[in-house]
This record gives sequence, structure tokens and C-alpha cells, in this order.
Amino acid sequence: MCRKYVYILIACCMAGITQARIGWPGHKKAAIVLTYDDGLASQRQYVMPQLENAGFRGTFFLYGQVVKAEDIPQWRGAATRGHELGNHSLFHPCLAGTTESTSSPCHSLECYSVKDMLIEISMMNNYLLAIDGKSEHAYAYPCGQCVVADGQDYSKPLLEAGIVKYARGTVRGIVTDIKKLDFSKVPTLPARPGCRSDELIRYAKDALAQGGLGVIVFHGVGGDYLTVDKEEHRKLVDFLAAHREEIWVGTFSEVLDYLAQQAGKE
Ligand SMILES: [Zn+2]
Repeated sequence: MCRKYVYILIACCMAGITQARIGWPGHKKAAIVLTYDDGLASQRQYVMPQLENAGFRGTFFLYGQVVKAEDIPQWRGAATRGHELGNHSLFHPCLAGTTESTSSPCHSLECYSVKDMLIEISMMNNYLLAIDGKSEHAYAYPCGQCVVADGQDYSKPLLEAGIVKYARGTVRGIVTDIKKLDFSKVPTLPARPGCRSDELIRYAKDALAQGGLGVIVFHGVGGDYLTVDKEEHRKLVDFLAAHREEIWVGTFSEVLDYLAQQAGKE
């Protein structure tokens, strides 16, 4: 009786492990999402042509303050060509003293309540709707920070309010288990300024070996700031193109929609 119970327990555990493993569409073995923050000119100049030459599309997290009126037609064109425009807030509020934080103390996270932050992100959704015509946008935390005044974390309230469905976190990692995936903090690889393609390709290979999802975060590519050399970026794109039969390169929301659907089936 006792032995039978152990067998049942082992069978249940094994079933659990099997279910948690991600089954990717089209016989792919892994997914990589390429994301680009802060609406930088180098992303339009160098990244988009590289991606489009390979038949890939990226996710570009814009914040309201940085989008110039004259650039709006270009962002709209990018969205029309299949790139995803993501929400990175209106004023990019970070904790005071963070390198990336804005100069105005009124726009540091310590000055925000959870409600303030949610209102700002909703407004940026409307701003993006006016550019790309889409009612839903993924979110990326400015400076990777989500703690506002009184130490409150706005990540869960943001999703619970239905303002966004998915948010990109900054903890380094690869998604391998849908059951453990926190859709409010999807793990990533932040590309270090000056990092070489070897490091980026190693992360993609790790995602492939683990059958998981890797999300890479870039800022400037071939210019602007926190810059990765455009040739190093191109080598990553070339690697992904050479492995397109195995690796799905999709936009953040495309891939997360798929994972949410899979999570719902379990
Ligand atoms: Zn940013």
C-alpha cells in the first residue's frame, strides 16, 4: 500500500515536470525576444534594418517624454512593419540617484504613489494607441525599478488593474517553467554597454539548451548611450537567423501571449 502510494507520488511529480516544460510552436525549441528601451535614434537607424533584413521584429519600449513629434511617423511606420511598441511610462521615473533617472525630483519614484504610477502608465498606453492603434501594450519598468513611495511595489497592482498584461523585469534569467513565470516580472539579460556578441549568443544558446525563453534588453546600438556595437548586435542577429528553425524570434507580447495561453491550458 505504502509502495503504491510512492509510485503514484513519483508519477504525479513526473507529470508535473513534463507539463511545466514549454512546448514551442512550429517545432521550435526555444524563443528569444529582442527589446530596446528609451526610443533611441540608433535603434531606428541600425537595429530595425538589421532585424528586418533577417525577417525579425523587435519590441521598442518608448517613454512619452522622449518621443519627439517629428519621430512619431517613423515609430508608426515601425509598428506598421510589425515591430512592437511597448510602454516605458511617460516620464521614466526611477529612484533618485539612479543613473538613468530624470533630473526632475518630481519624477523620481519616491514622489509617486502606486495610483500615480498606474495613472501615468495608462496615459502612456493612450499615447501609444494614438501612434500604433493598439489598445494593449506590454510594459518595461524604467531603470528596472518598481518600488514607489512607502516601499510599495506597483508591479502586481499594474497587472491586477488590467493596464498591462505583461511586464519585463530586470532579473537575469531564462523562462523555462510556465508555472513559475511571473508575468509582472519576466526575466531578461540586460546587455552590458560594450558587451560582445559572444555573451549575447551564449545566452541564446543557454535558452536553446534549456528549451526556454530569453529576453535581451538593449539601449543604444551603434550610438546613443549604454551602447552595444552595431556589428556585435548584427552577429547576434546572424546567429538567430542561422538557427531560425530552432529558435522563435518574436516580439515580447507575441511570445508572452503564447506562454499565457499555454499556462491557461495547464
Ligand atoms: Zn529606460
